[in-house]
Amino acid sequence: MEFFDHVIVGGGILGASIAYHLSEYSSKRILVIDRGQFASGSSSKAAGLILQCSSKHSNIPLAKKTVDIIPVLEKINGERIDFHQVGSLRVACTDSSIAELESLVAAASRWGVDVSYPSQKKIKGIAPWLETKKILKSVFFPTDGYIDPYLLTWQYIKAAKKNHVKFVSNVEATGISIHQGQIKGIQTPDGDIACTNLIVACGVWASLFSDQVDISIPMAPVRSHYWITGNEKEYKNSGAIVMLPDISTYFRPELGGLLLGVQEKNCIAFDARKLPKNLDSFAPTAGDEHLDTLQESYTAILQFYPDLEAVSITNYISGLSSYTPDGEIILGKIDTIKGFFVAAGDCGSGITLSGGIGSIMAELVVDGKSKTDISKFKPDRFGKIKIYEEKFLSECASARSAKSKGHSSLQNSY
Ligand SMILES: Cc1cc2nc3c(=O)[nH]c(=O)nc-3n(C[C@H](O)[C@H](O)[C@H](O)COP(=O)(O)OP(=O)(O)OC[C@H]3O[C@@H](n4cnc5c(N)ncnc54)[C@H](O)[C@@H]3O)c2cc1C
Repeated sequence: MEFFDHVIVGGGILGASIAYHLSEYSSKRILVIDRGQFASGSSSKAAGLILQCSSKHSNIPLAKKTVDIIPVLEKINGERIDFHQVGSLRVACTDSSIAELESLVAAASRWGVDVSYPSQKKIKGIAPWLETKKILKSVFFPTDGYIDPYLLTWQYIKAAKKNHVKFVSNVEATGISIHQGQIKGIQTPDGDIACTNLIVACGVWASLFSDQVDISIPMAPVRSHYWITGNEKEYKNSGAIVMLPDISTYFRPELGGLLLGVQEKNCIAFDARKLPKNLDSFAPTAGDEHLDTLQESYTAILQFYPDLEAVSITNYISGLSSYTPDGEIILGKIDTIKGFFVAAGDCGSGITLSGGIGSIMAELVVDGKSKTDISKFKPDRFGKIKIYEEKFLSECASARSAKSKGHSSLQNSY
């Protein structure tokens, strides 16, 4: 039987980043297996936003690490990743979102994330399409940006391979072997693999995979989606990301048009047992239902993006992220089984947080503890839960709806 010190199940961006960081931190044998192709799950669908400051302040140090690691990966691999570091403009149109913005600025300063207050002229320069009449306050985070998430995943993989990490695709982990409270290995259709540490990074399947050994990971697969507009108005591609938490909408430039994401009021969560193993053949949205979803927010969006009436919708992308009831990710060790670690429940921020998640997991696996405070991410923070129950699924869906704050106040008033 083959032996590896560390086995990572899942070769999406989290598994890839963990593999790279672990290989920098430990000289032991590391294996990453994926039952499909690497970077083919949620990591290939993301809008690629890398936002260092969000309403979950616990994420800030993790997101900062991602921004820091990009040039390091470029140097290691000798390739440009094309991180569009155009900055993000976050605007507030209600008292509650102003308060949220101020608390974000305070958190940004604590963590050393650059922030500025843009003038009207600057706003027009970075978001020429944005109608500013309703905006009461705005801040700009100049070091945020967006990236091709598939390429970033592969950059982690390439860097890890240089450190002799073994990557095997098209092999499924079907079982977990535990002896006397210690991880012993995994089972696959190609044979058993022995290991000391098992790191579960298998995206929306992490809870289903862990459930087989009675470990409940508090997360559910939830639909995320975005639309891309035509380039009839030809916005320059160098524009910034714009976050409009009051209407739960974000924008970024894409091919001369805009990529526009909406956190809908009633998000849809799925029972992980009913998902196919390959999501290529799975559409979380039926037919043209996405146009109804866009319609729900249409009037609110028009207040800030009047050109919406004049442009075509050329693309619609939907996929799954895993959400937890409190909107905090899951990252840590499973206390009841030695050598069992989980990085999951990405709450739609796995690209943003990948650098931090990888580096924290490397510390946890090697040192048993992390220098970063990860108490909010504890896998067992909800106790034993029924992960497939309707009530739990709807709590996870609500966390997605509330991801960017303030939507209820403004959206409902239009
Ligand atoms: C539409 C959309 C937009 C998004 N936009 C953003 C964004 O702008 N910014 C951001 O930060 N995040 C965004 N996200 C979230 C982001 O995509 C995820 O957080 C991230 O991809 C999660 O990575 P992962 O490695 O956990 O999962 P995945 O990429 O899904 O990888 C998991 C892998 O595990 C494998 N696997 C599963 N079970 C097994 C098994 N038993 N054996 C072996 N392999 C297994 C799968 O084949 C898969 O390849 C978005 C998501 C969606 C859907």
